[in-house]
Amino acid sequence: MKPLLIQNGRIIDPCQKLDEPDSLLIDEGKIIWMGRGKESPPENDYDVIDAKGLTICPGFIDLHCHLRQPGFEGRETIATGTSAAARGGFTTVCCMPNTEPPLDNKNTVEFVKATAAAEGVIRVLPIGCISRGREGQELADMGALVKAGVIGFSDDGEPASNSPLMRRALEYSRFCGLPIIDHCEDTDLSRGGQMNEGEISAGMLLKGIPNAAEDIIVARDLLLAGLTGGWVHIAHTTTEGAVDLIRRAKEKGVRVTAEAAPHHLTLTEERVKSHGTGAKVNPPLRTERDIKALIKGLNDNTIDIIATDHAPHTETEKNQAFEMAPFGISGFETALGSLMGLVHRKELDMVTLIAKLTAAPARIISKSCGGLGTLAVGATADVTIFDPALEWTVDTSKFASKGKNTPLAGEKLKGKVMATIYGGKIVYKDEGIEIKGVGN
Ligand SMILES: [Zn+2]
Ligand SMILES: [Zn+2]
Repeated sequence: MKPLLIQNGRIIDPCQKLDEPDSLLIDEGKIIWMGRGKESPPENDYDVIDAKGLTICPGFIDLHCHLRQPGFEGRETIATGTSAAARGGFTTVCCMPNTEPPLDNKNTVEFVKATAAAEGVIRVLPIGCISRGREGQELADMGALVKAGVIGFSDDGEPASNSPLMRRALEYSRFCGLPIIDHCEDTDLSRGGQMNEGEISAGMLLKGIPNAAEDIIVARDLLLAGLTGGWVHIAHTTTEGAVDLIRRAKEKGVRVTAEAAPHHLTLTEERVKSHGTGAKVNPPLRTERDIKALIKGLNDNTIDIIATDHAPHTETEKNQAFEMAPFGISGFETALGSLMGLVHRKELDMVTLIAKLTAAPARIISKSCGGLGTLAVGATADVTIFDPALEWTVDTSKFASKGKNTPLAGEKLKGKVMATIYGGKIVYKDEGIEIKGVGN
């Protein structure tokens, strides 16, 4: 493979505090040179991408997705999920363990890693279960899971409801240095709930899920993290109350990190009226007020990262009556386009957005997988190139994901991934981008 030169772009690398016009040279899977201004690269025989008008940044890292394999291959496989992620600009994704069998043992984790190596197009880092069989009763063999290479622990899909179990998991996290990722939901309070609790749920005669269902478990987790000194990572934060609790806990020195998902940052409960089960997600789409709090949280670093919670389902599953349909949104392929809306509306600056998708998640996984999330010379060449201004319409028939379930179907988005490079190899290229040979 020839070296690849990407030139004339705007390079944003929050790790190096870099935001300037620049060129990059990639060879043998690494970034080998970065040129400023008119400096010319050391090689003269390479492939060239002209990135004029485009932004070049480290490949996105998603700390929270569902690849569904093993067990639910009708919804997604590691092959289709990683292709969809590549189309979304992701070069590393961390997959949740609620598969069948679940990732609560070394063999299943190894199966996911081997399948990803053979059939995946980008890096897949598995997350192990907190509890055996995700049953919330006994701790999984966390030591064996660490050895198998998990980057954290979660019973996602379900909360870690059992407080003594959560306490022990957090004690172990202190010892192993990996986060306990909790899906915060008081399931007694949310039972039967279909969407955010409020006037819209009442009008649609659907049972609502109050913000308190999230806030209660966030508060408990923060208290347990304080008690144990363990590291809790709050998955898919959606409420004003949760952002507040996390902010105060951070001020007190509690070891907590938190994420928010693109759909929760950009869409309100109103979407349920227009997109039905496509907008059915858990935790639910909330209100403008919650969105404002989440964005404030991103800007003041209460919310550390953005993670997709990509959760593909089949059309048959989603085409059922609202109460029967499963929760979840297929998120990889619309993430950047929808998040760029925040930048265009000046609610988030572009460097912060990119940091939340690259440097910040890289810090969270650095113990198990260091050196990612930067374009520094010598780093693995995981690179995303996108057009911040290109408008496109979401057409789910073009998704690489098997999951066509999105409340953005038919939506016009501004901002599109043009190419994704993983370990120096182009794993996705938009038809609008050309690669030219230069030299002999
Ligand atoms: Zn969840
Ligand atoms: Zn999830």
